[in-house]
Amino acid sequence: MDYSAALRRYEEQYDALKVQLKAVGFIGQGSIQTRHLKCGKPTCRCYDDPDARHGPYHYWTRKVGGKTVGLNLTEDELVVYREWIENNRELERLVKEMRHISSSVLALITGRRAS
Ligand SMILES: [Zn+2]
Repeated sequence: MDYSAALRRYEEQYDALKVQLKAVGFIGQGSIQTRHLKCGKPTCRCYDDPDARHGPYHYWTRKVGGKTVGLNLTEDELVVYREWIENNRELERLVKEMRHISSSVLALITGRRAS
């Protein structure tokens, strides 16, 4: 493949990623844990039966200024947060591919590998 054909191919791949990028919805960071918890009452079944623990409780955590911050989510919020976190992963995947293609183009243009 010659220089201009190679460049054109990279441009096509890059344009395809830009189309996908445009389709990414709102994004959210962090992750969600689902837990079952003891209520602490000695008379409750959950006290010594792990299967009787309460829940599920959905807990969202993220890093803010190096600290982990958490929030309990309702079932409705869970649906939204899950989708936004998934969108964020998709966004990061696309950006990673765009960086990869860009460095290939740079190598093609300059004749040097940036490593
Ligand atoms: Zn209980």
